Amino acid sequence: MDYVNIISGIENLIRNNLRGHDTGHDWWHIDRVRRMALRIVREEGSGDPAITEISSLLHEIYDKKFSDAGQKALLKKVNRMLPETGLSRNDIDSIQFIIQNISFSKGYSGEGITPEFAAVQDADRLDALGAIGIARAFNYGGYAGNPLYDPAPGGRSTIAHFHDKLLKLKELMNTSAGKKMAEERHAFVVEFLNRFMDEWQQSG
Ligand code: ADP
Repeated sequence: MDYVNIISGIENLIRNNLRGHDTGHDWWHIDRVRRMALRIVREEGSGDPAITEISSLLHEIYDKKFSDAGQKALLKKVNRMLPETGLSRNDIDSIQFIIQNISFSKGYSGEGITPEFAAVQDADRLDALGAIGIARAFNYGGYAGNPLYDPAPGGRSTIAHFHDKLLKLKELMNTSAGKKMAEERHAFVVEFLNRFMDEWQQSG
């Protein structure tokens, strides 16, 4: 199987289609998830690198945040392209299962997931933590028109998203390599939050 050619075809398709996306799902997010998922597979010593890489490249295409016409066209293209690559039915089923169930909102994880699923999901979650995760959250908040912080109870803000989602991620990691990195990145997010609240209070 000529995985190198298959991967570069899929990479080109995704790279060209994500140009201009500024919701935190740009090409560089995909590329970081791909590299991190491959690192996790290497460190865990289990999982097929080609399935991991292809699933990472495609992991956003079912995201419901992309319900525009361009995204629907991309989804169609990918679903037409995959059977033409020469990938086996089994490989395509594994990839489809990962990319259709990966999102935080679906919450699919835990028992029975494949090593490739575990690695891509952990890599995606790691990208929402640490300095990059903080940057992505504020980028998304700006895009959505949300305030940085709202002290009113239940107020919608980017800081609220830290409590709703980011601080929960480290408990959800699947792999030991992912858990270790998540703990370190989580600690940085907590340090950032403490400092943010300190500075908020300093203005009196
Ligand atoms: P996933 O990549 O797992 O599908 P999302 O699409 O929910 O995750 O989020 C993509 C990025 O945008 C993440 O870094 C996430 O923390 C951030 N994000 C999502 N919703 C919000 C929000 N309401 N406020 C701030 N950041 C958000």
